[in-house]
Amino acid sequence: METFSLYRKYRPHNFDNLVGQDHIKTILINALKSGHVSHAYLFAGPRGTGKTSAARLMAKALTCTNLQEGFDPCNECDFCNEINSGQFIDLIEVDAASNRGIDEVRDLREKIRFAPTRAKSKIYIIDEVHMMTKEAFNALLKTLEEPPDHAYFILATTEVHKLPDTIVSRCQRFNFTRISNKALMTRLSYIAQKEGIAAEDSALEAISKYVDGGLRDAIGLVQQLTTDKKLKFNQVRDILGVSDFSLLEKLYEHLLGRNVAESIEIIHELHAQGSDLRQFIHEFVDFLRRNMLKSVASEDRELTGQLLDMIEVFQSASQKLDNGIPQLALEMAVIEICGAFDKKISIEDASPDKASLPSTESAPTQPAPSSKQVQSPNEKAEEKLEEKIDLTLESLKERWPRVVERIKTPALKMSLKNGVPLNVDNQQVYIAFDTAFHSEKIMESGHRIELENVMKDFFGIGIKVVAKVKDLDLKPVVEERKDPDKDDVDKALNIFGGELV
Ligand SMILES: [Zn+2]
Repeated sequence: METFSLYRKYRPHNFDNLVGQDHIKTILINALKSGHVSHAYLFAGPRGTGKTSAARLMAKALTCTNLQEGFDPCNECDFCNEINSGQFIDLIEVDAASNRGIDEVRDLREKIRFAPTRAKSKIYIIDEVHMMTKEAFNALLKTLEEPPDHAYFILATTEVHKLPDTIVSRCQRFNFTRISNKALMTRLSYIAQKEGIAAEDSALEAISKYVDGGLRDAIGLVQQLTTDKKLKFNQVRDILGVSDFSLLEKLYEHLLGRNVAESIEIIHELHAQGSDLRQFIHEFVDFLRRNMLKSVASEDRELTGQLLDMIEVFQSASQKLDNGIPQLALEMAVIEICGAFDKKISIEDASPDKASLPSTESAPTQPAPSSKQVQSPNEKAEEKLEEKIDLTLESLKERWPRVVERIKTPALKMSLKNGVPLNVDNQQVYIAFDTAFHSEKIMESGHRIELENVMKDFFGIGIKVVAKVKDLDLKPVVEERKDPDKDDVDKALNIFGGELV
């Protein structure tokens, strides 16, 4: 109840206070000023982004007897006051989610011809309009076809794709976007100040990021998480499981500096704090993504390549979180990334000795010391696995469909379905593909590691995977990766081909 009241208290009472939808605000204001207001608006967008607030603002602007500057409601006249307190007789609000709108729309068709009781306009706001029944839609459509001069409709929906085209095409449509973190923070700071809440910036920032662009949820959280007029980051973190932004930055810098020990320490710190590691990975990948877009814009190819690697490794880590020891997946990711940089540098050094070494891959691909030792910390996850089998081409072929079945990353799984085991040489496994697209997909570091880990579960030993295109010479991994530029471009194409965004 209380949450609702704080949100209601800070509902925008004029256009200036409508947060974050500047493009829509401008068009609505111009329509009001010029007197060309549409009789049917459709406000579409995610929850909590201001659709209903904007609808009520329009209702006030259409009835206010003392408009400011030709568009802004005065909030002092009778009509403004009645709308603000929810008692205005010529504003009819229908919540289609609660009763699917049948009675209201029937009622509406009967009453719409009557002039407004007191004001010059009658306004209908239909919330969650996509929930209406087919009959209600048909009735509404007839009304929208020829609305009387005094009638205005504002339809609001979070799921515009569920609306019949016939309805959409009769409305002027506005897409409400998620509100930016910056705009959310500004609004929350304002409210905290007005309410006398001592709010830490980091707490407001964490809430703004958590709500994914919804102001209503953000205000609700500020109210819920404030105790004794104080809003502290620690409290927000404990309840929402969000991460300390400075830890994201620290981890990023340590990874770039290849500081394994410091990076692992951060993982342990997170774990000790009781942070939700899944949420942390989600935030960290988003953080890396934003840095990647910046590095692409500044044409920093080297950094972009490093970021692509990191994103892949952490995305794959998030799929391994449920293995009993949650921090293990993150530790492995950190080691893998620091190791990957070692490898890159050793290639760039072009020292013939180093370049011809099989691979300096770290933990994940090293031969397992003994299957018992590997299993012990992780027995729950492993106990269902069958007995380990010797790795041969035959045994691999026989188990190949099951190996593919256990892959969790959809893109990797899809590519693997196009591959066949070609050769097994000691602990090196060669998989053949018809096209370079699929073989390159496998060799992306996060993908390769995931495949190698699944194979390790089957055969109990560390396995190195090499993907190749059919009828081409076998090439060791290190040589294939010799051209970092090409590698980055391919990866960038893959990423921008639609996987990430
Ligand atoms: Zn007024």
